[in-house]
Amino acid sequence: MGSARITFVYSLITGLAMQWLCFGDAQAQARRMEGEIETVHVRDNIHMLVMEPAGNVAVFTGEDGAAIFDDQFRPMTERIITAVAELSDESIRYLFNTHWHGDHTGGNRNFGKLGSVIVAHENVHKRLSEEQFHLVFRARSAPTPPEGLPVITFSESMTFYLNGDAIDVLHVPDAHTDGDSVFYFREADVLLTGDAFINGGYPLIDIASGGTVAGQIEATNRMIEMAGPDTIVVSGHGPLSGRDRLIEVRDMLVECRKRIRALIDEGLTLKEMKARRPFADLEERWGQRLIKGNLFVTIVYQSETGDWVKPENMPLAE
Ligand SMILES: [Zn+2]
Repeated sequence: MGSARITFVYSLITGLAMQWLCFGDAQAQARRMEGEIETVHVRDNIHMLVMEPAGNVAVFTGEDGAAIFDDQFRPMTERIITAVAELSDESIRYLFNTHWHGDHTGGNRNFGKLGSVIVAHENVHKRLSEEQFHLVFRARSAPTPPEGLPVITFSESMTFYLNGDAIDVLHVPDAHTDGDSVFYFREADVLLTGDAFINGGYPLIDIASGGTVAGQIEATNRMIEMAGPDTIVVSGHGPLSGRDRLIEVRDMLVECRKRIRALIDEGLTLKEMKARRPFADLEERWGQRLIKGNLFVTIVYQSETGDWVKPENMPLAE
């Protein structure tokens, strides 16, 4: 993916550059931005709004008010509100962010203005307050205005008692970013993972935002511990799944890390590693979404070695 292509995408969908983070085909996404949200019932009073290939939004309804988990890109706000109104007469009282990326926080300023209380890990507040950049996509993102920032933050864990359920919120350090949270609904037995777990392909681990492969593996192990045999898992991207898929992804991550570590120990450069295509046999299973095998080689290599530099002259989205 060259920078010229990214510049083209920016001009195509100005102001939405953050969405490039989690989808591979700008035209398909542009169509999706015009399209309908698909509402999928998860369990009890939990639903998932599907806007694939961009991020999933979870909706939790009840007499205390509606809560949403992530809010997609900014232009999706109206459609999210309409979809939630089909499920609940109550206003959106709480908005939780699983991490700072724009396909999960883009609507924050809209929901903040409407009076939703925004809750997230303290590093989400920190990163949204300042300009950020995307190492893989070579783009910067502007700070979020105050009305879009979390008003309640936490550092390790907390529990929300809402709509007859208890939601355990757990920070999983240095996984997809340094500000990821996962959410477990005790009564409903539903686990929301954000991008600490991606169902379907290699994960984008955002090294520049403090993510690491080791942290993503550890986060997945924590989620495997939290999940039971009947737990429904709502991932940041991709369809519903369960504990078995968490295990499968954990095993893939462990295997990829092991292979790259061996090549690092052999003394190979990143270029030499890519030439060997160390994930070639995994490509059919894991390389069919945004992150292809050799991009994941780069991500794992950078995570293990810390060998990366901040790109220069990155375009600013907003
Ligand atoms: Zn993300």
